[in-house]
Amino acid sequence: MEDALEPEKKRTRGLDTVTKIATSQSRAPAITARTQTQNQITAPKVPKKTGPRCSTAIAMVLKNQKSGPAVPAQKPGAAAPPMVGGRKPTKRPAWDLKGQLCDLNAELKCCRERTQTLAQENQQLQDQLREAQQQAKARGAECRTLEGELARVQAQAEQGQQELGSLRARVLELEEQQCTQEGLLRELQKEQLGLQEERRGLAARLEEQERRLQASEAALSGSQAEVASLRQEATGQAALLVEQGERLHGLEMERRRLHNQLQELKGNIRVFCRVRPVLPGEPTPPPSFLLFPSGPGGPADPPTRLSVSRCDERRGTLSGAPAPATRHDFSFDRVFPPGSRQDEVFEEIAMLVQSALDGYPVCIFAYGQTGSGKTFTMEGGPGRDPQVEGLIPRALRHLFSVAQELGGQGWTYSFVASYVEIYNETVRDLLATGPRKGQGGECEIRRAGPGSEELTVTNARYVPVSCEKEVEALLHLAHQNRAVARTSQNERSSRSHSVFQLQISGEHTGRGLQCGASLNLVDLAGSERLDPSLALGPGERDRLRETQAINSSLSTLGLVIMALSNKESHIPYRNSKLTYLLQNSLGGSAKMLMFVNISPLEENVSESLNSLRFASKVQLPPGPGPVRTPGCL
Ligand code: ADP
Ligand code: MG
Repeated sequence: MEDALEPEKKRTRGLDTVTKIATSQSRAPAITARTQTQNQITAPKVPKKTGPRCSTAIAMVLKNQKSGPAVPAQKPGAAAPPMVGGRKPTKRPAWDLKGQLCDLNAELKCCRERTQTLAQENQQLQDQLREAQQQAKARGAECRTLEGELARVQAQAEQGQQELGSLRARVLELEEQQCTQEGLLRELQKEQLGLQEERRGLAARLEEQERRLQASEAALSGSQAEVASLRQEATGQAALLVEQGERLHGLEMERRRLHNQLQELKGNIRVFCRVRPVLPGEPTPPPSFLLFPSGPGGPADPPTRLSVSRCDERRGTLSGAPAPATRHDFSFDRVFPPGSRQDEVFEEIAMLVQSALDGYPVCIFAYGQTGSGKTFTMEGGPGRDPQVEGLIPRALRHLFSVAQELGGQGWTYSFVASYVEIYNETVRDLLATGPRKGQGGECEIRRAGPGSEELTVTNARYVPVSCEKEVEALLHLAHQNRAVARTSQNERSSRSHSVFQLQISGEHTGRGLQCGASLNLVDLAGSERLDPSLALGPGERDRLRETQAINSSLSTLGLVIMALSNKESHIPYRNSKLTYLLQNSLGGSAKMLMFVNISPLEENVSESLNSLRFASKVQLPPGPGPVRTPGCL
């Protein structure tokens, strides 16, 4: 190795020598300069990135140039400098120019060779550089491709990330769903267990039922034989039933006849007196003011008599002594003292109401001064308390229930209700709805058709009813209609007659029988009179006319009833709207009942006596009649 390097060292040493010579000789700088130029040019051209082989070669060249010992080339044939004791040749003496020239030539040759070698190496390096540049270019292109690829891969990675995010969310959602499904599954499993249990129970029951069925089938075959014999028996029974039906019908007709006879015996015109209780806040009357003497049967008999005590103030004033009291005694078909309940009162008229189902017209009136209890008797007390229900709802309930019973005997009944008010001789529909609500007039009493006896009120509603609820609704509507009218005309309800009419139609299709009648329940206008001694202002003239209209229609009613009971040839029905409307339900086979309602207060004694006298007049002779005291009739 050292041997291989030896010529290089020699060359470098030679160069050192040349440098030294150049300072003293003129030709030497040309060579030196070229060598330096070569070194300067070559060095920067070396590519940065060269292969290991190339860089090694350059390094070797530079190393050789730096550290190589300048060994002068020995000219062949020239005398070499003398060796001293086997050491390096010593420097030629200054006079040995030839030797020096020889050395320089050798040195020059060596340099030329060296230059050639370097040129070749340079060529090689340039080739390598080009190759390296091409490679670098190729790498650059490759690098760009890879960058593009990288960007695409990154984009894909980002998209992948997003997809991953949404997939994660989906996974979470699915996990939640799974949890829910699992819960559901558990519930279903529990339910399934329950159902299995139930199924087992049902299977056991089924078995039990099957066992029973077998037993029943056995019993059935036994029963079938029994049925056959029963059928035979039933045929016999049916024949008997037809016979019984015939008898029953005969009995029903007989019952009707006897019922009517009983009612007639009681009197086709009956009068009941009802005294209302003293209301809270009213003065208590003296104990002897109203008396209810017992009948011939003693206190156990229902009361039929009433005695009213009245102080004769005129007689008292004349003598100066306290006014003596005069008793006025009355007797009616029935008297209801203040404590009488609504159901007790109805019990007395239930049979009369039933006559309407049998085909006899029925009229029930409530007569008396305002505040004496007419509306309470007919419609009932305030509120929805069933205890204070009046005659109208009770009568209809009774009729519906009896009609249902008669249904079992082949009778079918239908009911149509109307409710009108007669005020100052004009008729108003109390069942009007919509815009006609509360309005008056436009109602007229007309014959249902030419030649027909039947009367109808034009523009009034006739409403079919079949149950209590419907009747309740109608009464409520009538109440509302009255309330609307009351705002415009002061307490008009007490100044008008309210007529509730129920048309009853019965039919026995099996026997081709029909019956029809009407039940009339009338709450009359207050019977009180205006005090003639009072001076009348202009506004009160109307009130006087109104009162006169009421008094006139009430006295017409009295006259009609009296004419009927006296069987007079002319009955003045046309003298008032009320009697005109009710003419088919008065007289003949019609049944009539009048309640005379009385106030228990002493201050109302005059009006009470007037009412009692009116009621006494209409009572049909030869009934018990009033106990006529002087001045009564
Ligand atoms: P009218 O219709 O004759 O003007 P009402 O029927 O309106 O009289 O009765 C006047 C007041 O007396 C009402 O407050 C009513 O509730 C009450 N009243 C009437 N009769 C009775 C009775 N038998 N029991 C309890 N309160 C009655
Ligand atoms: Mg009233």
